[in-house]
Amino acid sequence: MSSRADLLRSRGLRVTRPRLAVLDVLAEGGHLEVDEITRRVRERLDSVSTQAVYDVLGALSRAGLSRRIEPAGSPARYEARVDDNHHHVVCRGCGEIADIDCTVGSAPCLDPDTAHGFQIDEAEVTFWGRCPSCQARRSADN
Ligand SMILES: [Zn+2]
Ligand SMILES: [Zn+2]
Ligand SMILES: [Zn+2]
Repeated sequence: MSSRADLLRSRGLRVTRPRLAVLDVLAEGGHLEVDEITRRVRERLDSVSTQAVYDVLGALSRAGLSRRIEPAGSPARYEARVDDNHHHVVCRGCGEIADIDCTVGSAPCLDPDTAHGFQIDEAEVTFWGRCPSCQARRSADN
């Protein structure tokens, strides 16, 4: 647990129990909505408001300790996998999200031929389709 405290300190953030709890939840993996994060944080801490969780997620995201993704038409999700500019595939049926690594090199989408003087820190590439269980449900319906 001390490593998470060190992580917060290394980014200039004060160590608080809600921050540690949210990092703990995000470390379980996946792309989580705020409601789900709040539910799991409440299993760890007695009382935490949804607003407090939003505040923590904002601070963690600004500090580069969590990544916020917001596919079109779906609520924001948060994940612990940061710094590699990986992409996502989103299911049109159920909203399930999975990670997609850059297919060439480490993060080639961050090196456009010309960036018009912009300093690029993210390339937003979202793949859309249907997850295996939605495909199975579809063929069962037919
Ligand atoms: Zn699906
Ligand atoms: Zn991801
Ligand atoms: Zn890429």
